[in-house]
Amino acid sequence: MTLIKNKSITKTTIINRIIGKIQGVKKGPTIVFFAGIHGNEKAGVIALKKVFKEFSEETINGTVYGILGNLKALEKNQRYLDEDLNRIWTSEQLKNIPHKATLNAEEKEQKELFAVLHRIIENDSGPFYFIDFHTTSSKTLPFITINDAIINRKFSSQFPVPIVLGIEEYLNGPMLSYINELGYVSLGFESGQHEEKEAIVNCISFIYLTLAFTNAIDSSNSKDYTKYYNQLKVVSKKQDKVFEIVYLHTIKQDEIFKMKEGFKSFEDIKKKTVLATSNNQLIFSKYNAKIFMPLYQKKGKEGYFIIKEIAPFFLKLSTVLRSIKADNVLVILPGIFWENTNKNALIVNLKVTRFFAKSIFHLLGYRNKQADATHLKLYNRERVSKTEMYKDQQWY
Ligand SMILES: [Zn+2]
Repeated sequence: MTLIKNKSITKTTIINRIIGKIQGVKKGPTIVFFAGIHGNEKAGVIALKKVFKEFSEETINGTVYGILGNLKALEKNQRYLDEDLNRIWTSEQLKNIPHKATLNAEEKEQKELFAVLHRIIENDSGPFYFIDFHTTSSKTLPFITINDAIINRKFSSQFPVPIVLGIEEYLNGPMLSYINELGYVSLGFESGQHEEKEAIVNCISFIYLTLAFTNAIDSSNSKDYTKYYNQLKVVSKKQDKVFEIVYLHTIKQDEIFKMKEGFKSFEDIKKKTVLATSNNQLIFSKYNAKIFMPLYQKKGKEGYFIIKEIAPFFLKLSTVLRSIKADNVLVILPGIFWENTNKNALIVNLKVTRFFAKSIFHLLGYRNKQADATHLKLYNRERVSKTEMYKDQQWY
């Protein structure tokens, strides 16, 4: 499947888009690192340029790619030009794009990225890993964001950094959610604040650890492995737990939103703390929890998130429930049925959700996405996961 008809154009643009590709002499996984999906987030770009100089065909098992996201926005050092490239990977948009007469700046980038991505999936061999590098406008510990699938949880739990899951319920159309829907391990790594030097160091550490955890490099007698592991461990300040998003303040069109100065991601907040102003009205916290990704830049629709830690007991419980496909029991209940025979989405009557806590659906791997007046549509990552591809890997 490819969207681009003119092959010569594809080739010239793709040469610029690819930071590096190393195909090792020995067999191994295919690892794809993306950077600069947001044009003002350069830490991953700089880190990949540096490490690709250190790799060679002899030292890498399998294939490693470094790919740039938004070329035009990177040139201008802006998050995006026309629309956010990391919010347009919806099935509707991907269906429409081949039929559009004119494409905006980000749709052009998307079309090329889509072609590159599918060419890799078709021509290279698994297991596949997709990593997307970002930075944030606020100060932050480095952290991983994932769609809530067990393969993602298991793989990302090897890194000594906090993991935030369930972001797919709050964001529409991030690229990684699209790749995750295809069934592959895919994680976002937010390495620090946009301008911080440490954000680059954290990306370099993350790249080496990814190669080690996937056996793309031999880490058994490497001093560097310990160095990179400790780098992330120290900067994460022992917060390497699993968190879930419980709230997002979405900035509405024409809303004048201003975050109160000085918040860092993962900072504890209490109920009634003043967080921001919206059209000059104070916004108070409704939670005793942690603030996450407060917005300190002009572009972006997510004002701030609130996250809470998930207790290890519930993480284990949900792994067990999903492995025995406990969701089959749900559809026995009135008002809950499969959307289609693929069983990757549930349609739930809103009357039912009054009795059923959202957390039960979360435990079973379902995340709420679309709603009409009477029904919720809950998507599941488990049933589309290519678990077979990964189950013989050490980390699984
Ligand atoms: Zn970003």
